[in-house]
Amino acid sequence: MKILVINCGSSSLKYQLLNMDDETLLAKGLCERIGVDGRLKHERGSEEFVTEAPMPDHSAAIKIMLDALLSKEHGVISNINEIKAIGHRVVHGGEFFSDSVLIDDAVEKAIETCFDMAPLHNPPNLTGIRAAKQNMPGIPQVGVFDTAFHQTMPKKAYLYALPYALYDNHKIRKYGFHGTSHKYVSMKAAEALGRPYDKLKIITCHLGNGASICAIENGRSVDTSMGFTPLEGLVMGTRTGDIDAALVPFLMEKEKLSAQQVIDMFNKKSGLLGLSGVSNDFRDILQAKQDGNAHADEALEIYYYRVANYIGRYAAAMNGVDVIVFTAGLGENSALLREKVCAYLGYLGVKVDPEKNAQRGKCMDFSAAGATVRAMMVPTNEELVIARDTKAVVLG
Ligand code: ADP
Repeated sequence: MKILVINCGSSSLKYQLLNMDDETLLAKGLCERIGVDGRLKHERGSEEFVTEAPMPDHSAAIKIMLDALLSKEHGVISNINEIKAIGHRVVHGGEFFSDSVLIDDAVEKAIETCFDMAPLHNPPNLTGIRAAKQNMPGIPQVGVFDTAFHQTMPKKAYLYALPYALYDNHKIRKYGFHGTSHKYVSMKAAEALGRPYDKLKIITCHLGNGASICAIENGRSVDTSMGFTPLEGLVMGTRTGDIDAALVPFLMEKEKLSAQQVIDMFNKKSGLLGLSGVSNDFRDILQAKQDGNAHADEALEIYYYRVANYIGRYAAAMNGVDVIVFTAGLGENSALLREKVCAYLGYLGVKVDPEKNAQRGKCMDFSAAGATVRAMMVPTNEELVIARDTKAVVLG
């Protein structure tokens, strides 16, 4: 059963076509510069095909993606109807969705209702859904929401200490994101350890450009670090993470900024980039530190500290932890980051084996002998979760 996964941004569209009989990747690609000019990168196995092609809108991008998937030279299917379902990544599902769903008019309306809460993500997600519907009519489409996995959080974890009416009137609360990744790596960790998922206390650290941590107790998300929007929580590539809200009016006055400009600063000019003054990319900051840049050094220390801090918080939330999992760009690739964070966690029973921690690319437990809490690295695969959910929804 072939399933197409689509992740649509404002000017980009990522896709993967998977054979879900054996969960293998058939082809993947990226349409970029949609609405500007248009560029496609299409990969089949180790072959890569790049072309410039006009993409005035997402519908045009989908047509070009389909041409590539059907092409004699680079394609992997000979007829669109070989695609049995399409799974869409949708960032915000509000309180509407605690699971993946078959998309119909009511679902589209609900995604639209969440526009205010994810203005950068939900509108292009819905555009992608509509463009797919237009170009592949009759193929079932499924919405897989970043927020859904966290809908199991208890009220004590998701309510902000604001006047209650704001929750009633505007649904202001913590939602959390990266749900597909937290779900995938936590399940994978339990499987690798040969222990029952529904009896474990797991803390998953998704550390990419965006970053969040999740506490998973007996297979359910019970707390997570991102909030009403993906700004809250950890220090990220360009985002502040947790910050005193009183800084908004303070900065508006002192720096003569509008509220929107302050939030843009928090989202786009802060985090590792703001602190280091070098880059949002971890590797550039490491290099700058090696070159003697003190701000780069501080940025890294603040980053590690915040991650360790949250792990402590979530160990308290669950009255213990069995497994800590690192994933995404930084979590998967930086042994140094894992070592630095784990150095704070000896009190929990975490002990790192440096040789194991130096391995790359595959799921691993890098705990040393005597550790009572497992420390693991698990490569994430959000597309595979989307494809699995899509298959499950369409097969009913
Ligand atoms: P996104 O949130 O955009 O999907 P990724 O999960 O790809 O981001 O993570 C990007 C981050 O991972 C960048 O800060 C990058 O520097 C970091 N990263 C990628 N590879 C390495 C590596 N080998 N060593 C250290 N950091 C890395």
